[in-house]
Order: sequence, then structure tokens, then C-alpha cells
Amino acid sequence: MNPITDTCWWLREALEHPELVGDPAPELRADTTADVVIVGGGFTGLWTAWHLKVRDPGIDVVLLERDECGFGPSGRNGGFLNGFHDHVSGLLDMYGADGARAVLDAGDRAVAGVASWLATQGVDAWYRPDSSLAVASSPAQVGAWDAMLDAARRLGVEDRYTVLDRDALASRCSSPVFEGGVHVEDGGTLQPARLVRALRQACLDVGVRIHEHTPVTPPRGGGPVETAHGVVRAGAVVLGANAWMASWPGFRRRIVARATYIAITAPAPERLAEIGWTDGAGIYDLRSSLRYLRTTPDGRIALGVGGQRGSFSGRVDERFDTDTTGRRHCVAALHRFFPGFRDVAIEASWGGPIDVSSTHQPYVGTLADGRTHFALGYTGNGVGPTYLLGGILAARALGIQTPDTALPLVDAEPRPWPVQPFRGAGASMVNAAVVRRDDALDAGRRPDVLSRAVASMPDLFGYHIG
Ligand SMILES: Cc1cc2nc3c(=O)[nH]c(=O)nc-3n(C[C@H](O)[C@H](O)[C@H](O)COP(=O)(O)OP(=O)(O)OC[C@H]3O[C@@H](n4cnc5c(N)ncnc54)[C@H](O)[C@@H]3O)c2cc1C
Repeated sequence: MNPITDTCWWLREALEHPELVGDPAPELRADTTADVVIVGGGFTGLWTAWHLKVRDPGIDVVLLERDECGFGPSGRNGGFLNGFHDHVSGLLDMYGADGARAVLDAGDRAVAGVASWLATQGVDAWYRPDSSLAVASSPAQVGAWDAMLDAARRLGVEDRYTVLDRDALASRCSSPVFEGGVHVEDGGTLQPARLVRALRQACLDVGVRIHEHTPVTPPRGGGPVETAHGVVRAGAVVLGANAWMASWPGFRRRIVARATYIAITAPAPERLAEIGWTDGAGIYDLRSSLRYLRTTPDGRIALGVGGQRGSFSGRVDERFDTDTTGRRHCVAALHRFFPGFRDVAIEASWGGPIDVSSTHQPYVGTLADGRTHFALGYTGNGVGPTYLLGGILAARALGIQTPDTALPLVDAEPRPWPVQPFRGAGASMVNAAVVRRDDALDAGRRPDVLSRAVASMPDLFGYHIG
């Protein structure tokens, strides 16, 4: 019994297919050497390994994974495969017009890269390139897309965004609480566990030496990478351990770990037909503690809620995997959006940690030793970006320059999160206030003064929390 594969419907479904269970990847049992050692077997680690092998088929790559590859967020997420078009306004603020355009283009190439990888590998990961709908799920959210549209116009990419009024949105997906939205032409949805497990096997097939059930001692840069039964000495080290790094020395102020939870219904294709949601578009609303939802080919809805618990120390524990409150929030949002789904069973629910950076943008960095590289800060948008950042990490590990290594997200160290206790206690207080404020606005009430004040504090101090 594994608590993750038992609860996460994506993983359970993927692991019914022997080719996605794949070959074994035994624990590391002795010291070894490699050209590159990668820590973490999610999309970041696996794409880095893949890009390394594409660039240099003879390179010796060892990948160390604490659990099994893809059992972290990479196999558990909402399955939205997007670039950066939702973040156009933040990108323009951070990187200026040229930098923002370059990141948007790179995000598009990442989405196309994943789609083409699936096609050339013959992997059916249910990819449907039907883009996303950003919706107002209460009157208070109407117009929350203005900054996005304004930035898009300034960058000359406004043709990727189509504003939908209430009726136009209802023809794509009808909900009594959807007030309108924006169709953002960017990617679509897929079955994430199928992708990550296929990628794991593809890496094994090209000779990546994967050792699962092999947690590493958090590396500080400099020495070998240490595990309980052996060390790995390598010319370059790549850290792709995502939210787990929030408690690692040297990373504690770079990200905070927050939870997000998903619930998935039983198949109900006839109910989806009734609401007219028959394509593969992903939908998210415009609360700060957002809800994201998508369908599956057999007619389910998977709905996730963001902005959930963190942990005071930054340590990712089992509360990130399952949580009854998180499940309750998912189910309440599902029934509010689609009352016709009240009698459809909820078949599974699960959660996972995300690595929130203070800019909400991911970046690649290198530790002072010059040979330990990392990617962090996906903040809930990593399925597409990990392909891009994995390519950059591979180039860094090889010591080569590529057009992507010149992107402004490389070495874009975000403003550090505050020191403890403000990071742990402060983040929890702000989180709770944001949810209270969002809930009040959804219910058509004015949020109380305290919630409004606490929820707006991060902005006052220059932290972007969504
Ligand atoms: C519920 C949920 C929904 C999401 N929805 C979406 C979405 O729809 N679209 C989107 O783009 N993004 C989404 N995300 C975010 C996305 O899943 C991540 O950004 C992405 O998977 C990050 O990949 P990664 O490889 O960096 O991290 P992970 O997948 O977290 O992989 C890190 C790996 O490192 C391993 N590890 C940790 N510590 C150690 C150690 N000491 N030694 C060895 N290994 C270690 C972990 O076990 C894990 O397998 C979601 C995340 C969650 C949790």
C-alpha cells in the first residue's frame, strides 16, 4: 500500500498500464561516480536528464529519487500544460518588454516540446491542446483580467486572449456563477502521471541510471551527494527537489511550501454535455486562492483549490498528501460551480506541495560552488515550464550557452521570503486571510477589515502572492 498511489487518481490510472510501471530502478547501495547527478525524479529532474542525453548520448547521468519518480507533484497535478501567457503582466513588470516576450516565446516552445515528445514517443497522455479559460466565479472577479489584457496589448500578443461575456463563456462551459472570462490560447490539459511515468521509462531506456527509494541528505554545494548507502561524485549536480527544498539549508528563504488539493468525480459525461463543457480546456477562476478544474476523456471533472496550508518549518509532511479540509473545499467549489454534479460521486482526492517564490515565477540558479544548479519557484505552474528549465539546467551542467540560458529567468533570484518566525506564522496568517477575503467576495459580502488588511500585507512589502 502506498498512500500516494492509493489516493491520487492519476497515478492509480497510469500504473494500471505495465509500460508505465516500467522497469525497476533500484536503491543506490554503493558509492559511484557520474558526469552529472540529479536529485529529484519529477519533471525537472527527468527533463534535465532527458535533455542531457539528447545533447550528449554518451554522458553518464545518475538520478536519485526519494520515493518513486513521479509520485511527487509531477504525477499528482491538475494536468494544465501551459506556458506563461497567464503571467504576462507579471513578466512585463519583472523583465520589461523584450524579456517578457522572450519568456513567453520560450514557454510556447516548451508546450510544443512536450506535445512533440509525446507524439514522437507514441505516448498517449490524453493531451488536448484546447487552451485555458480564466473565469470570474463571482461578480468581484469580473475585470480581474484587465492587467493581463493590458500587458498583452503592450507586448503585441493580444491575439492570444479573447474576452468572453457571460453568454459566450456559457457556450464553452455553463455555470450559474461564471460571470464571464478570457480564453487564453496557451497549451491545454493532459494526464500528468502518464507523462511523468513515460518520461521515467524513456530516461531509463536512454541509459539514465535512476535510483529510487534513495533520499539524499540536503546538499550544500561543494562535496559529493550523500545518501544512506552511498555517495555520488559528479562534475555537476542538479537539484530538482521542488517544495522539499523549502526546508533545506540555503533554500529556506527562496521558496515557501504551500499545499493544494484536488478532488475528482466519477465519470458523468452526460452531465458534462448538459453544461456544454465537452472540450479539453482547463478552467481556473480569478480568486487569489484560485480554483482550477478540467475534464477527462471519460467525463470526469477534477477540481483543485490553491492557497491551502503550509508548514511552519517549511518541511513537507503527509498533511500535504491528503487533507479532509482541502477535500471539503474542492467539493464545495465543484457543487457551487455545477449544482448538477451534486449527486455525482467523488471518486478520489489528494494533494501536494507547491514551491512558492516571492515573484510567483520560476528561475534557475547556481550555488556558490559553481557546479550545483537548481530550478525553483514554479508556484503551481510547472508542467510546461519544467521542460524549459530542465533544458536550461542541462545546458548549465554541460557548461554551454544556449538561447534559453540567456533568458531573464536565469539567475533571477527573487526577493527572499522573510526570516522565521515571520515566514511560517506570517504566511499562514496571510493565507487564511486571503481565503476569508475570497470567500466573502464569492458570497457577495464585503470582507472584514482585518482580513482585507492582512491579505494585502504581502503586496505592501513587495511580495507577489497571486
Ligand atoms: C495538486 C497540484 C496541482 C498542480 N497543478 C498544476 C497544473 O495543473 N499545471 C502546472 O503547470 N503545474 C501544476 N502544479 C505544479 C507542478 O506539479 C509542479 O510545478 C511540477 O510538477 C514541479 O516538478 P518538479 O520536478 O520540480 O517537482 P516534483 O514533482 O515535486 O519532484 C521533486 C521530486 O524530488 C523528490 N525529492 C524530494 N526530496 C528529495 C530528497 N531529499 N532526495 C531525493 N529526492 C527528493 C520528491 O520525492 C519528488 O519526486 C500542481 C502541483 C500540485 C501539488
